[in-house]
Amino acid sequence: MNADIFEEQLKIKSNNYPRLTSKLLELSNADKYDDAKQEWRITGKTWDSNRTYNNHPNVLLELNNHPSNHKHHCLCGHNIRYHFEVENTITNVLEIVGSSCINNWMVLRHINEVLKIDKRTITEKMIDEWKQTAVQSLVKDSWWELDGEDFTNNFNNIKDLDLRINVKKTGKKYWDEMLKEYRPQTYIRKSSNGIYGHPDYQMASIVWRWNHPDNKRSQINSKRGFPNERLINDIAHFLINMNRILTIIQIEDKKDSERYQELALIDNVIRNEIIKTNENDLDQHHFLKGCDYFGIRPFTTGEARNAWERRFLRDMRRVVVNIQQPTEKQADKLINILNRRIITEEGAVLSNDEFVNPDDTMRM
Ligand SMILES: [Zn+2]
Repeated sequence: MNADIFEEQLKIKSNNYPRLTSKLLELSNADKYDDAKQEWRITGKTWDSNRTYNNHPNVLLELNNHPSNHKHHCLCGHNIRYHFEVENTITNVLEIVGSSCINNWMVLRHINEVLKIDKRTITEKMIDEWKQTAVQSLVKDSWWELDGEDFTNNFNNIKDLDLRINVKKTGKKYWDEMLKEYRPQTYIRKSSNGIYGHPDYQMASIVWRWNHPDNKRSQINSKRGFPNERLINDIAHFLINMNRILTIIQIEDKKDSERYQELALIDNVIRNEIIKTNENDLDQHHFLKGCDYFGIRPFTTGEARNAWERRFLRDMRRVVVNIQQPTEKQADKLINILNRRIITEEGAVLSNDEFVNPDDTMRM
């Protein structure tokens, strides 16, 4: 683009801000606006007046002490939330403008001086794009400077818990290879249920919204680049409910660790059985291998209390020998029968009757 036409277009644009241009001219060294506008640059300092609350008294203090002395207003007079500081590099005057009044000349200078791009190669389209980007990144930087550390700490403290708590159950179960049992199938909750603050409120996953790699619209990768208010509020909600959440997690963890202890005992029983089994008895060896695979102790049809159970245990033995996956129903029924006996630390399987409290026997 021809440089003269370029300047001409900017001149037309600058007429859209007559109130701003006259104020800027007043505070400049040059007598003509065409020269005066080139004296100004963006300093990079930005204040969000909404952040004067939320434990950020410094924002209010800095705005109150700013030499421009028109808090909540642009130099042109309109109301603003974001305060962008601009500086006249000849007169050293510091001023405040809103995002719509960061004019193209300030952006042009910013691109030229900060990004070190030759003025002659800068097009109007580039300026428009960079103006948006510059405003966005100034707002983003000011947010991270004030709240970034707290947010990062809170997020890191709750991210693992979030992925366990803020999930939805499908009602279906899946076979867990580690715990060797059927477990409820869960998915990350991607949208919230209920009303914020109500006891039945279920928030969408914090990790999902902020930085989950599968989320194409994660907030960390948005143009905005910092968490939205909803996410911040949900993090606060999560932290307030931390004791309740930790209790749920502890119960889950306890169940898992009990299952691992049980698997260790089952392992012990199986090892004892293998020693006792003749190496030519291939069927029994396959059965024991299958028991190990499914995390169940070896059993015999002798444990059945009726004909149905005897048939069921015989069928289950065949399923285990062939390493077929027992269905959820079969697994439940089998565990119910096997739990009538107790596995000792030494690897013996005893009838539950031997553990009956003697007091109970006395009463009989
Ligand atoms: Zn303005």
